[in-house]
Amino acid sequence: MTTIEKVIEGNYCIGCGICASVNNSIYKIETTKEGRYKAINTDIEGNNELPDKVCPFSSSSLNEDELAEKYFSDIKGINKDNEMGYNLSSYAGYVEEDNYRELGSSGGGVSWLLNSLLEENLIDAVIHVKEGNMDNIFEFAISNNAKELREGAKSRYYPVEMSAVLKKIRDTDKRYAIVGIPCFIKAIRNLSENDKEIKDRIVYYIGIVCGHLKSKNFTSLFAWQQGIHPKDVVNIDFRHKIPSSSAALYSIKITYKKEDKILHKISKPASELYGTDWGLGFFKYKACDYCDDVLAETADVVFGDAWAAKYRKDWKGSNLVITRNKTIDDLLKKGIKKGKLNFDPIGKDIVIASQGGSFRHRRKGLAYRLYKLNKEGVWAPKKRVDLKEAKLDDEKYIKVQNYRMRFLDVVDEYFLEALEKNSFKHFKRKLALPILRYKFLVYGIRGIIPAWTKDLYRFLFKRVNEK
Ligand SMILES: Cc1cc2nc3c(=O)[nH]c(=O)nc-3n(C[C@H](O)[C@H](O)[C@H](O)COP(=O)(O)OP(=O)(O)OC[C@H]3O[C@@H](n4cnc5c(N)ncnc54)[C@H](O)[C@@H]3O)c2cc1C
Ligand code: SF4
Ligand code: SF4
Repeated sequence: MTTIEKVIEGNYCIGCGICASVNNSIYKIETTKEGRYKAINTDIEGNNELPDKVCPFSSSSLNEDELAEKYFSDIKGINKDNEMGYNLSSYAGYVEEDNYRELGSSGGGVSWLLNSLLEENLIDAVIHVKEGNMDNIFEFAISNNAKELREGAKSRYYPVEMSAVLKKIRDTDKRYAIVGIPCFIKAIRNLSENDKEIKDRIVYYIGIVCGHLKSKNFTSLFAWQQGIHPKDVVNIDFRHKIPSSSAALYSIKITYKKEDKILHKISKPASELYGTDWGLGFFKYKACDYCDDVLAETADVVFGDAWAAKYRKDWKGSNLVITRNKTIDDLLKKGIKKGKLNFDPIGKDIVIASQGGSFRHRRKGLAYRLYKLNKEGVWAPKKRVDLKEAKLDDEKYIKVQNYRMRFLDVVDEYFLEALEKNSFKHFKRKLALPILRYKFLVYGIRGIIPAWTKDLYRFLFKRVNEK
């Protein structure tokens, strides 16, 4: 059995579509009933060797360290770090020029850089994620000019796959920049190592930091709890900025159809909506629990959110940026000098403060998950973390990790039941006890006292003190 087959069988597939993009591949991409893309073996005669060498979770593909060393180790002045990967410069800040920041998810840096690459004639077009249709609200697409690329701004917490777009670019002779989350960038880098056509076409790799990817039901969850049936959703903005004290308090904007009208609904802050506990990971891909790349270590540059306190307090949003390519580094420096970018040079402390949760999950947390599967004799993808890092002396920690691993399947199962019964209430009812148990596990008795009782206690306590 090849490791890509083990990836698919073990449900570690992220649905990136790289295996299916290979000429004569035996794989194709399908949507599962749980709303995720997944590769399936078509059982026809064809190529299984190359897919195995390019799948980001296969042991036969090059890992992030091996790839990064090829591309970045010879760059003059570059540093290497365990968490940040290779790095030339690190910044936090936002775009001053035009309305990139307003249109973007955080500081607007990704769209600004893509436009600069076009303007400087370093690329002819961009491969990124844009609006699709009602079946696939978002999909990988090609933008050929500034207007088209700006239409693709914003983060899409939604399944996307690359096989169709990669097939399209083979028939052109253009130079492209591609935007992707870390595992997708790793997958294309591996493909480019084995496929000259792809290597010649894709000339810049723009990474975006990734906490984890969600199934299509994450979109349905937001719609349904606000009284919009999942089948009526036309579009969703996962990062609708609201003037407030914090960039973390964004809302969800849903565009939906009602009879023959197209309407919009803007939610309260997303953090107050049901199902947004990122620790519990509603509708996460299982693969994301076996990922060790937070900062797209094989990308020429990576953009994320600067969640460190100093930057988070500006509701308009700020980027965290790490460069690994001299041309891109120079473009950003030129932008800073001309006042187009308001970027501060930052140290590792700000990077870690911005992505602390992801690092904990993908270092110690991952070491524990791998240790557990290893002990049970279950196959898991080969990762760069040392199993010795697993925290085995903390009973509560182990219980929380085990609980989170099981929770993924429970959420899927109850949501499918709710869809069948056409009842969102059913979903909440079925999850009430599992969520209560989780909160008790993590926070003890404090976690299960309803918020209103805490408010009442504070109110009464204040009255007593005032008397
Ligand atoms: C699934 C996902 C998880 C993320 N998790 C984190 C996190 O945990 N921490 C963090 O700091 N940042 C995370 N980000 C990144 C963050 O949300 C912003 O995308 C990033 O800060 C860039 O913002 P911007 O304003 O510069 O980009 P914009 O100017 O808004 O441009 C965004 C670009 O990314 C492209 N894009 C959007 N979604 C995808 C996708 N799924 N795959 C490929 N390209 C896409 C768009 O087409 C556009 O070109 C995540 C993004 C995604 C898509
Ligand atoms: S290459 Fe991507 S789509 Fe194919 S099996 Fe691997 S993770 Fe899944
Ligand atoms: S967490 Fe890792 S595996 Fe999951 S989508 Fe993000 S980069 Fe890919």
